[in-house]
Amino acid sequence: MTSADVVVLGAGVIGSSIAHTFARHKHKTILVDKQQPGQEASAAAAGILAVSSGRSKRGPMYQLKKASQTLYPALIQEIQQATGIDIEHQTVGVLCLIRNDADEKKYRKLYELRQEQGHLVTWLSAEALRQAEPALNPALRGAVHFSGDHHLHNGKLAEAWALTAEKCGAQLRTGTTVTEVRRTGGRIHSVRIGDEWVEAGTVVIATGSWSRQVGELFDITIPVEPAKGQMLAVRATQLNHVISCDEHYLVPRKNGEVIIGSSVEYVGHTKDVTLDTVQAFIDRSEALVPGISKAPLSRFWAGLRPYSPTRRPLLCQAPDLDNVVLATGHHRNGIVLAPITGQLIYELITTDQPSLDLTPFALPREPLPPPGPDESPDEAD
Ligand SMILES: Cc1cc2nc3c(=O)[nH]c(=O)nc-3n(C[C@H](O)[C@H](O)[C@H](O)COP(=O)(O)OP(=O)(O)OC[C@H]3O[C@@H](n4cnc5c(N)ncnc54)[C@H](O)[C@@H]3O)c2cc1C
Repeated sequence: MTSADVVVLGAGVIGSSIAHTFARHKHKTILVDKQQPGQEASAAAAGILAVSSGRSKRGPMYQLKKASQTLYPALIQEIQQATGIDIEHQTVGVLCLIRNDADEKKYRKLYELRQEQGHLVTWLSAEALRQAEPALNPALRGAVHFSGDHHLHNGKLAEAWALTAEKCGAQLRTGTTVTEVRRTGGRIHSVRIGDEWVEAGTVVIATGSWSRQVGELFDITIPVEPAKGQMLAVRATQLNHVISCDEHYLVPRKNGEVIIGSSVEYVGHTKDVTLDTVQAFIDRSEALVPGISKAPLSRFWAGLRPYSPTRRPLLCQAPDLDNVVLATGHHRNGIVLAPITGQLIYELITTDQPSLDLTPFALPREPLPPPGPDESPDEAD
């Protein structure tokens, strides 16, 4: 029988980050995906590494994002060198637009907090905004520039990360899945991947919004739900920064596309793109960038974010199973959080002493309310 120190299920950015970390440390690693790596949420995302412009103010999610963001520059270099794939890392930052008094009040508070925390933030007047982004609506009052929040091509990152894990020695098993497991007491002894039984030191479940279904095979309830996000891409080269306004964003890519998104919908595993949402994207974008509605539409798609009712990722040991670990539920933050997730899951498994406290990322003890617009515990002031 084949054996592995760790079998990672799911080769999105989360699974690939974990597999890469183990393989880099010379552990025998198998990374399994039912498709090719990085075809789901990790490819669908906008690729914004949002920390200072993000909604987590100071709590555990903020700390997690900040720690992850600092790992990115070296990681990008490593992945690009290993694979020759340009991940299109852009360091222009995020502009959060100010249209009215309510925006001004909200961003004044965030701007002051981020300054206190030592982030690179600049308050732009209407005139300064016009100079930075001449294509924006001249009626805008200004913006806050969060220059430390970079962005990248998440689809290329996801593909290249799995490849990097492989180059470090991880074995990739794609187009297949785990269909059966064998237990010995409170441990999983082996898993069947396709036709092959593999003796597994540890199994990591990193199957994004399919984690609930994969958990059933292990008799674990993983309370993760798909949260659909629709996206459009247009051919429009007039933007320099990531533009963010009231949950709506426009992200310039190096190939001349601008990505426009996104919605958050709890409608199961469907990935339909609907005309009403497209219409709303067009209207919101036109209000910010006059004339953009005339830009040629190049692509549209939807992806499924893994939503956890704790509103934080689940980074923890599975209940009653010593050697099964969960790394899922990253919802809107999986791209920014992938590097630190790989590191912490590695530390959890190999030392049981992760460098950040993982208590806030445990499975909920009691049922939590269904998805809604409520603030996450880390967004409150
Ligand atoms: C529209 C949109 C915009 C987003 N924008 C951002 C952003 O700007 N910044 C940010 O940080 N995050 C963003 N996100 C969130 C981010 O994309 C996710 O949090 C992240 O991709 C989750 O990664 P994952 O590896 O857990 O899941 P996924 O990428 O979904 O990967 C899960 C993998 O598991 C595999 N799988 C499923 N079932 C099985 C099985 N039974 N056996 C084997 N493999 C299986 C799937 O094929 C898939 O490859 C966005 C998401 C969406 C949808």
